[in-house]
Amino acid sequence: TRAVFLSERPSGDPGPQNFEIRDLPLAERTADQVLVRNLFMSVDPSMRGRLATSEMHYTTNFQVDAPLDGSALGVVVDGTEDVPAGSYVRHRLGWREHAVVDIAAATVIEPRGIDLHHWLGVLGQTGFTAYVGLVRAVGLRTGDTVFVSAAAGAVGSAAGQFAKLLGASRVLGSAGGPDKAALLTERFGFDDGIDYRERPIGDALRAFAPDGIDLYFDNVGGDHLVAALASMNQRGRVALCGMISNGGPDSPPMDHLMNAILKRITLQGFIVRDHEDLRPEFEDQVAEWLASGRLIAESTIHDGLDNAVDAFLSMLGGGNVGKMLVRLS
Ligand code: NDP
Repeated sequence: TRAVFLSERPSGDPGPQNFEIRDLPLAERTADQVLVRNLFMSVDPSMRGRLATSEMHYTTNFQVDAPLDGSALGVVVDGTEDVPAGSYVRHRLGWREHAVVDIAAATVIEPRGIDLHHWLGVLGQTGFTAYVGLVRAVGLRTGDTVFVSAAAGAVGSAAGQFAKLLGASRVLGSAGGPDKAALLTERFGFDDGIDYRERPIGDALRAFAPDGIDLYFDNVGGDHLVAALASMNQRGRVALCGMISNGGPDSPPMDHLMNAILKRITLQGFIVRDHEDLRPEFEDQVAEWLASGRLIAESTIHDGLDNAVDAFLSMLGGGNVGKMLVRLS
């Protein structure tokens, strides 16, 4: 099969020169494996950390001259009695067109009449991340004023809508650029959309949330976290989900964390995979919201393995609305 390989570790920001498409020989499948033709694959911010040698992420580092991997959804072409040809499976061997997948490491997906790609997005790990963060990490309460950063992205657009559906009284979101900020209110039902490039996020939060924030869902870290802490109410709660802005030259000094102390704020980091027990409840709830039209699930889809690296680099630069995916066939 064809796969995207890491040809060289990036020294700064990753670029096309760090990757290469190469042939990857496929082993014969064993009795505990199925041969899968990948249909969609996920493009994730956490990949950036995995390209380096540091361990500031929650999985393994990519190896030079080895194929990348990541979440994917495919159709079984050579299966077993339990997982026959034609079954849809979600698994971790993305970034290649075909894969021999251990059945134990795959999830059989019953699409329930919902478009397949949503099972990698709002009904997959990204939607689940939003749900776990709100429901488990910080316990959304009826009447909360909620702020979500990277709010036009996959996790953020889900988190903002879930918060509203679960009883928040006001939901604010931030995103880069006027078009994305407008989408937050017009498409995703946020009460306010902030363009963080137009003015400092701290100024915007003071203007949009004069009565303070009760719950902050943080996808960005850095300046957004500092600004949110300054606008938090007493005993506010922060779900620390991701830090996509981190490591940049403009990272603010961390003495702003003093606000967490002064205001008795709870900062709760979480990793979605620790909360599998919530998944059935999450899938039922989100499938119902989608079917009833109360939830909008946006995706930005690039076509073909040859465009997968571009999709990843574009996502880091904000080129996506909703879930960034690559369609493989
Ligand atoms: P998104 O779809 O949100 O895509 C990333 C977005 O980040 C871009 O579209 C861009 O939007 C924004 N962005 C990039 N750089 C910056 C910056 N310097 N400042 C502010 N915004 C920036 O990705 P995901 O929904 O897949 O992931 C969102 C977050 O959730 C990530 O931090 C990820 O690591 C985290 N995550 C955490 C998990 C967990 O278990 N804790 C599991 C899965 C994801 P814009 O145009 O608005 O700038």
